[in-house]
Amino acid sequence: MTQILCNRCAAPAGPLEWRCDHCGGSLDFVELPPFDPARIDRRDFSLWRYRAMLPVKRRFSLGEGKTPLVPAELDGARFHAKLEYLNPTGSFKDRGTTTLLNHFAACGVREAIDNSSGNAGASLAAYAGVGGMSATVFVPAATAVESKKRLIRSFGGHIIESRDYLTDVYAAAERTAYASHAWSPYFVLGQQTAAWETWEQLGRAPDAVATPVGHGGLFLGFYRGFKALHEAGLIERIPRMIALQSAGVDPIVRAWEAKADAPAPLDPGPSVADGILVDAPVRGPAILRALYETEGFALRLSDGAILAAQERLHKRGLMIEATSAVTAAALPQIRQEIGAEATLVLAFTGSGLKSIGDPA
Ligand SMILES: [Zn+2]
Repeated sequence: MTQILCNRCAAPAGPLEWRCDHCGGSLDFVELPPFDPARIDRRDFSLWRYRAMLPVKRRFSLGEGKTPLVPAELDGARFHAKLEYLNPTGSFKDRGTTTLLNHFAACGVREAIDNSSGNAGASLAAYAGVGGMSATVFVPAATAVESKKRLIRSFGGHIIESRDYLTDVYAAAERTAYASHAWSPYFVLGQQTAAWETWEQLGRAPDAVATPVGHGGLFLGFYRGFKALHEAGLIERIPRMIALQSAGVDPIVRAWEAKADAPAPLDPGPSVADGILVDAPVRGPAILRALYETEGFALRLSDGAILAAQERLHKRGLMIEATSAVTAAALPQIRQEIGAEATLVLAFTGSGLKSIGDPA
C-alpha cells in the first residue's frame, strides 16, 4: 500500500487517519505512481481514465471529472474556463470525494462525517449514498445557507447545525471516519486529475492557472498534477499558480505578500465568497511553496468586484457561484502580471444554480 507520512514529523499514518496522531500535522502520500500517458484509459470519459496513476480502486462513480475547458473572453482579456461546476453535484469537490470515499469503501467504512458550509457537504452526501454509507455533515449554525442545507438533505445526508462546528466535528472524528475535504490526502489526490485533463484538452500546459483558495484543495491538485507531468518529462515547466481569495478572509495573500512560510492567524471578515472563508488553511505552507516555486502570486478581491464579475459571467451563460467569480474579478490584475498572450486557465469551481433565489 502507498505510504502516507506526516508533513511535520514524518511519522507514518494509518489508512483512516486524517491528521498525524503524534503531532497533529497534515498528511500526504510519500510517492505516487508516476504519470504515464500510455496508461490513460482513453475509453473512460471520467477522471477514472487516470486510475493507473491513482492508488485507489474504483468501486463506484457518478462520472465525475472530464469537465469542459472552454475558451472565453471578458473585456478583451482571453482565458480558458475549466467548468468544474459541471461535476455531478455541482462543484470541483466531487474529484476529491470520489477518491476519498472509494478508499473508505475499501476500508469497510459505513459512516462518514465532514464539516462544510455547502459544496463539500453535498458532495459527501451524494457519494456516500452511492457507496452505501451514511453521511453526516456539520454545518455552521450562524452562516449555513438554507439552499445548500436542502441540497445536502436531498442527497440523503444528515445535518448537524453547530455553533462551534470545528470543535464538534473533531470530537466526532474520534469515533467516526472523517471524510475531511480539508485534511485528507485522498481528497487532494483526486484533485490532481484537473491538471491532467487540462493538459490533455489544451495539448500542452497553460502558462498560468488561477483558482479560488480556501483550504486550497483544487489549487494544490492542479500544482501537484502538473508537477507529475513535469517529472514525467511531458511539460517544460509547471504553470504559474495564482491563488485568489476574498478581501474578507485572505491568509494566503497576506503570507505571500510578507514572503512568509506559513499563514498567520487572522480575524476573518464577511465576504460573498462563502466557499473560501477559511482563516487557517490546513495546507497553508504547501500552498505558499507552490506559489514561490512557480513564480506565482496571490490576490484579494472585494465583494463588489466579485459580484460584478459573477453577474457578467451569468450573462455569458456561465452559471457560477460567487466564490468562483474571484477568478474573473482578478482578470485585469492577472493579465497585467502575466501579459496578454500567456495561456491562462481559470477554474470555475461551483455552480450558481444551487443558490438562485437566495437572498444576496
Ligand atoms: Zn506528525
